[in-house]
Amino acid sequence: MLADNAPKVIAVANQKGGVGKTTTAINLATALAAIGQKVLVLDIDPQGNASTGLGVPRSARKFTSYDVLVNEKPMRDARIDTTVPGLSIIPSDADLSGAELELSNMPRRSYRLRHAMDRFRRDMAEAGDRCDYILIDCPPSLNLLTVNAMTASDSVLVPLQCEFFALEGLSQLLRTIELVRGNLNRDLAIQGVVLTMYDRRNNLSAQVAADVREHFGDKVYKTMIPRNVRVSEAPSFGKPVLLYDINCTGSQAYIGLAKELVKQERKAVREKVPA
Ligand code: ADP
Ligand code: MG
Repeated sequence: MLADNAPKVIAVANQKGGVGKTTTAINLATALAAIGQKVLVLDIDPQGNASTGLGVPRSARKFTSYDVLVNEKPMRDARIDTTVPGLSIIPSDADLSGAELELSNMPRRSYRLRHAMDRFRRDMAEAGDRCDYILIDCPPSLNLLTVNAMTASDSVLVPLQCEFFALEGLSQLLRTIELVRGNLNRDLAIQGVVLTMYDRRNNLSAQVAADVREHFGDKVYKTMIPRNVRVSEAPSFGKPVLLYDINCTGSQAYIGLAKELVKQERKAVREKVPA
């Protein structure tokens, strides 16, 4: 049984590259922290873009998600604070690209992160430390790293880019979620679908958004993340867009998304408790 104050663990996943996973992990995490949540970003993409985007230089990545997955480094010790109050990160680096192969020879290879997460919950509870959300930034692949993330998560958040091929590959992602549910983590839920890089001047964006809503119904967040140049500039300053330009449309959208997510969670908790 999980404690009431256990963190909600959400894998940000889509095997397509460039759809806004990392951008969403960074900025949703920042927005959640900005509205008072304690948040941890777990970067499990060997590219380490979430780590760079949250201002953790490579030289500061003493322990990484590689150490957590392969060397059983406790997450609580691998975690470092970011410049955003309430937001910490477990960074990644290129070591992780070899982890797939290393993990594949280990016993219970799909449960490595799950075990680390269980220990993290215990360590946090013991220390009286709070963590409300853990967002896992997954690599652009349905590999063993992503499977570890899904096995360790309560739910999956799927960013979909508003472009012609948005739905392509989605059935494969859903099939993987089903497989993880069937074999590794029967409680894995779909948290929701977030439409990214929405361009309101472009009819195609509106068409894609309508198609996705028809397909996924109320699993699609009302908040859409607009295509906004400030969002893409921010990482080169090692900042989430909320710190780079709080007033731009991208920042405001991520705040909207964070509020929607927290509301969704509160509703889920209310529905679980019999009146
Ligand atoms: P993924 O992690 O899925 O590969 P990223 O989050 O790295 O995708 O985004 C891919 C590219 O698109 C990056 O260069 C990023 O800066 C840019 N990008 C993401 N979201 C937006 C947005 N809302 N507006 C403009 N550019 C964006
Ligand atoms: Mg990424």
